[in-house]
Amino acid sequence: RKENVTVLGLGQMGVALARAFARAGHRTTGWNRTAGKAGDLAGVVEAASVADAVTASDLVVVCVLDYSAVQEIFGAVDISGRTIVNLTNGTPRQARELDAAVTARGARYVDGGIMAIPPMIGRPEAMVLYSGSTQAYESYEHVLGLLGTGTFVGTDPGLAALYDLSLLSAMYGLHGGALNAFALAGSEKVPATDFLALLVPWLRAMLGALPRFAERIDSGDFGTGVSSKLSMQVQAFPNFFDASREQGVRDDLLRPIYELMKQRVADGHGDQDGASIVELLRTPSTVD
Ligand code: NDP
Repeated sequence: RKENVTVLGLGQMGVALARAFARAGHRTTGWNRTAGKAGDLAGVVEAASVADAVTASDLVVVCVLDYSAVQEIFGAVDISGRTIVNLTNGTPRQARELDAAVTARGARYVDGGIMAIPPMIGRPEAMVLYSGSTQAYESYEHVLGLLGTGTFVGTDPGLAALYDLSLLSAMYGLHGGALNAFALAGSEKVPATDFLALLVPWLRAMLGALPRFAERIDSGDFGTGVSSKLSMQVQAFPNFFDASREQGVRDDLLRPIYELMKQRVADGHGDQDGASIVELLRTPSTVD
């Protein structure tokens, strides 16, 4: 079924979204704060104002810098009867507040998190998370599915943002760890491209620990059948700091996890494994 789709925000991501809709033959209208961005997008008609863009389609996808930009955009226009799908990166609270504001104005709201970079849009490996109005999501699943593999994660509109940030936090941990490994091994002039041959299989093997971690976290039983105790890991950990200093490499990325492991041991949980650090992470942070 062909739809009218509007994309508000034609930055790097918005352009990729609009292109995916237009390519599939949906009547696509684009709008961008700075005009002229739809110029080289085949099949995308650029609207002169937000109001015109919103009038053009029942489905309005928005993807701009942040939520305050989203609020500015919708400030004065009539959105009643529309389905707003907001793919702007934000927090669960921002998504819930926007949902309340949008639904109070007679529109349906779906929040989304794009787990992909623009060139991936339109391919199955582009993961897009959605939450909010199930009905709205289901009415437009055939359109949103063009962006990648869509997953509806729940009716709480904040969930997509929560899962998005959770997944990104895992990415930063993985990438940070890999960069640390490149720096440490590279202190002996090992080319990163050579070291990759060890790093990638190692990381793949380590992913194998996650199902057991997940079971421990769900059951709250962190102490049975542990093969790598925190007390042992904490003992060996200073080797990182000594080696880093001797090799002339910074150790900043390793410090925080060490502090958490030490605290867990000091709290009497040295016989548990690394999964139990999640218990400490569940305590509120005092850092802004
Ligand atoms: P860009 O910097 O390329 O584009 C930002 C867009 O926001 C532009 O269209 C800009 O308009 C618009 N904008 C900024 N402020 C306002 C405002 N006050 N009113 C109206 N429009 C405004 O960013 P991306 O397209 O890459 O990112 C967009 C969203 O997608 C972000 O939330 C980002 O986190 C998310 N995202 C991006 C990914 C990526 O790899 N690029 C990956 C996953 C998510 P103008 O042209 O006029 O400045």
